Amino acid sequence: MQKVLIANRGEIALRVIRACKELGLKTVAVHSTADREWMHLAMADESVCIGPAPATNSYLNIPAIISAAEVTGADGIHPGYGFLAENADFAEQIERSGFTFIGPSAEVIRLMGDKVSAIAAMKKTGVPTVPGSDGPLPEDEEECLKIGRRVGYPVIIKAAGGGGGRGMRVVHDEADLIKSIGMTRSEAGAAFGNPMVYLEKFLTNPRHVEVQVLSDGQGNAVHLGDRDCSLQRRHQKIIEEAPAPGIDEKARAEVQARCVQACIDLGYRGAGTFEFLYENGQFFFIEMNTRVQVEHPVSEMVTGIDIVKEQILVAAGNKLSISQKDVVIRGHSIECRINAEDPKTFMPSPGTVSFFHAPGGNGVRVDSHLYSGYKVPPNYDSLVGKLITHGATRDEALARMRNALDELVVDGIKTNTPLHRELVRDAAFCKGGVNIHYLEHKLGLK
Ligand code: ADP
Repeated sequence: MQKVLIANRGEIALRVIRACKELGLKTVAVHSTADREWMHLAMADESVCIGPAPATNSYLNIPAIISAAEVTGADGIHPGYGFLAENADFAEQIERSGFTFIGPSAEVIRLMGDKVSAIAAMKKTGVPTVPGSDGPLPEDEEECLKIGRRVGYPVIIKAAGGGGGRGMRVVHDEADLIKSIGMTRSEAGAAFGNPMVYLEKFLTNPRHVEVQVLSDGQGNAVHLGDRDCSLQRRHQKIIEEAPAPGIDEKARAEVQARCVQACIDLGYRGAGTFEFLYENGQFFFIEMNTRVQVEHPVSEMVTGIDIVKEQILVAAGNKLSISQKDVVIRGHSIECRINAEDPKTFMPSPGTVSFFHAPGGNGVRVDSHLYSGYKVPPNYDSLVGKLITHGATRDEALARMRNALDELVVDGIKTNTPLHRELVRDAAFCKGGVNIHYLEHKLGLK
């Protein structure tokens, strides 16, 4: 691989460009008309406009991206996260056109993209899953009621093709089961083009804990430890950290080993994340993300391993450069997602950043595409940067985050920085181990 096209925008495009440059690879940035003036386009060797502002016409426009790769002579395509990163058709068309998709095979993306087939694959390889219907719910109402009774209420009905926190419905009582299945089915059919639904036990107070893996598809895989991403609002993560605090060590070692084995069994190539709910010392698989994640830096900070570089190297056909014994977790890392939004109403706040000042100092990392004068377009996700700190202990990482948030200046638009400043001083969060409902309760949303 010699030249990589980055099929994304914002901080992750910048992150991938940096990794490519370190590896001595040439880069091609693509952009919509809304991102035409983005200063960091100059960091790539070339840049190509792939369409107008709406993502469907640009960052989701597969033919435009593939022709940009053709005209620039790129041989690898990195999807980043979001947009087309988990689109199996995109991966397939890239490979068919003779380029290298920096990610797993289309087949594996498809398998993991359907939650029913993903859960079946996990069961087969020994990754612990949530007790449930073991496959799609049948049409027969009596059968569904039987399954509900066996699993025990509350249960959650989920769309096989669901994503982004949509296509789910909690059922507390048997009387509501059949109606809820019908509603989730029709919503899923309309939203995801797939009416298949399944049922799981609804865990009442879980934490969100996930395992980062790297695998080369040639029989070698490692895990880079875990992350806790329980601080969420509407299923959107806000703060993440590594390692997850206060996890049962036996359960942790077991689940990490299972994830590594799953990568080997799946012939998985690239970076990936196994997401779990963690309750009463037990892990329950909910889904796998077959791409680099927003929160990958916290794992990089505690392991010293560059996930994006490894991802590119294995896509180019190299064997994994590290083995499990090379992975040592050092200290603790925290990430705050800085969004261009009102810290109280969460309404997006696009506009021109009149002044930007990034924090610094020991153990502080800023992954952001902002600068003074940058115009945040209204068309895309509101994430404008990530503050990441590292410390020898969790307390040190937190203290550094408090400083970093106090030093950060983003003028001209609203950001959620005031919320973060409050959260990093919140007693329960500082203690560690809050569950996935904590933030919404605190915000009075539940
Ligand atoms: P998506 O792909 O839409 O993100 P997930 O399956 O990852 O869907 O679930 C999203 C969120 O929904 C989880 O992080 C958790 O908060 C909640 N959730 C999903 N399944 C369960 C469950 N069985 N019990 C309790 N909460 C759940």
